[in-house]
Amino acid sequence: MSNWDKEVDILVVGSGAGGMMSALVGAHNHADVLIVEKADRWGGTSATSGGGIWIPGSDVAKQAGFDDNLDDAFIYLRKLSAANVPDENIRAYVDNASPMLRWMMANTPVQYMAFPYPDYHAENPGGSAKGFRTHLPNPLDGKPLGADVRTLRFASPAASLFGYLNWHFSETYELLYRQKGWIKNLTKNMAKYWLDLPFRLTSRKDRRLTLGNALTGGLRMALNEKDVPLWLETPLKELVREGDAVTGAVVEKDGKPYRIRARKGIVLAAGGFEKNQAMRDGNAPLYPAARYSGGVTSNTGDSIVAGEAVGAGTMNMQSAWAAPVFYVPGEDRGRLCTVERALPGCIMVNQSGERFLNEAASYHIVGQQMARRQAEHGDADPCWMIFDQEYRHKFPMGPLYPLMPTAMHSKGVRSILKKGRSIEELAGKIGMDPSRLSSAIGRFNAHAAKGEDPEFHRGEAAYDKMYGDFRHSPNPCLRPLDKGPFYALPIYPGDIGTNGGLKTNANAQVVSEDGTAIPGLYAVGNNAASSMGESYPGAGVTIGPALTFGYVAARHMTGGN
Ligand code: FAD
Repeated sequence: MSNWDKEVDILVVGSGAGGMMSALVGAHNHADVLIVEKADRWGGTSATSGGGIWIPGSDVAKQAGFDDNLDDAFIYLRKLSAANVPDENIRAYVDNASPMLRWMMANTPVQYMAFPYPDYHAENPGGSAKGFRTHLPNPLDGKPLGADVRTLRFASPAASLFGYLNWHFSETYELLYRQKGWIKNLTKNMAKYWLDLPFRLTSRKDRRLTLGNALTGGLRMALNEKDVPLWLETPLKELVREGDAVTGAVVEKDGKPYRIRARKGIVLAAGGFEKNQAMRDGNAPLYPAARYSGGVTSNTGDSIVAGEAVGAGTMNMQSAWAAPVFYVPGEDRGRLCTVERALPGCIMVNQSGERFLNEAASYHIVGQQMARRQAEHGDADPCWMIFDQEYRHKFPMGPLYPLMPTAMHSKGVRSILKKGRSIEELAGKIGMDPSRLSSAIGRFNAHAAKGEDPEFHRGEAAYDKMYGDFRHSPNPCLRPLDKGPFYALPIYPGDIGTNGGLKTNANAQVVSEDGTAIPGLYAVGNNAASSMGESYPGAGVTIGPALTFGYVAARHMTGGN
């Protein structure tokens, strides 16, 4: 076929973590690479995220004193993942994750630290209660990005302060517990932000890059060093298949079709279909609401559809990275609720005023339980997060900041916050039977006073305890809610992206339904069906594999290092 407008070795579709990593490894191996991005900003959901990656057996974990075993990691993932995920895919991830991280730290400014962040099912065989498989990026100065920093996506409102100030994971605890020096450090970070002149006069962007901004910003710095172009507002429209192989793609450039030949291959890294309502309705009815997804609005499954049109198979399209989310009216995505649920002084109830889960479990487990509850009983969309005055004073709750009077919060936040002098008054404001809510809280309180939760075991697992208040005993996650006023915020069964997608093999090659590889076509990140199946084994199991399979795909295409 002729009529190509451009030829490259590797075409990468999407500028999230997986896409940028494959582009970079390809460029290092002397390939001519182009990244096309649909949105007018680069970085995808990866840029808005925590940037955490789950890497078994890393060098940095070893330096921190954790000697991991890859067979344990495999056993751990295999048991949690779905039966239809091949062993080879899981093994490819486990074996390549640490080499990928070593490569990234040697070839980009992105540096990672291993954290004592327990696996989400640490009690399972092969799980790590100590953590050190979850790694987080060090903050990075964004100035070397020059003008590109302006088009890097902002951190999620759930992962930044006041919607603009980037913060690092280790600062979370300092702020959360107002530890010694917190005012000084917050003031220092704010001063750094406001004194970033003359940039401050033209942009709200914080050039101290942390979390997902540090990861994607650092990858882009390395891509710029290699002169890899990234075209914004250039969506993939279709793939070109000639014979057995995919040889190119049609993108839209300046409003017109533009044909790009890819001599070595195309990497589809365009995220999931989280923001495509029709695709969710057709594939993932358990997770129906595109609005509540924390993913970026441009992730509408285009490249999954394009892959299917050239014969690709799909897998686990019913699945999502489930999560409880707050939703502030007017915002384009839900805000992931991670830490708050584990802190003492709050509970989650359904619309009948009953607890039905361990609030402190991982967001995926809580999100799945909420979604199933809604599907079976219709009373969990939304649920209500109930907390007392002591909690309100001490800790954040989603978009609500402690020490900041309610009146100083946005109109959207004020519109969803409910307050009552008593539990009964609060119940009336959220349309609940006062006596049911009051007796549910009474039952909870009686046990919480002893640090117990016989029904749902909150605060028992290693993961629960990590986000609990370590200063509070006997159980860092439990305290009776006994002094008003009391507050309620709606909390929804949401997600942080879908995780079913194109079927791939251990080389990240896209395969047909019968498992035959389609030459020239690769898929990584949420564009591909995840090796995790429908599970969420630990913090970083979405971006860890996105980066790892990006690395694997580019090496497979280029035969390089
Ligand atoms: P993305 O990063 O979303 O990139 C896809 C890109 O493709 C986007 O830029 C999109 O615009 C572009 N695109 C879409 N369609 C097209 C098209 N037709 N043509 C061209 N480009 C297209 N996961 C972790 O592992 N660790 C964490 O710490 C973590 N924290 C999170 C925190 C929050 C608040 C949220 C919301 C999510 C978090 N996640 C985390 C989930 C994680 O961010 C995503 O699962 C992951 O970033 C997906 O990466 P990706 O490369 O597949 O897609």
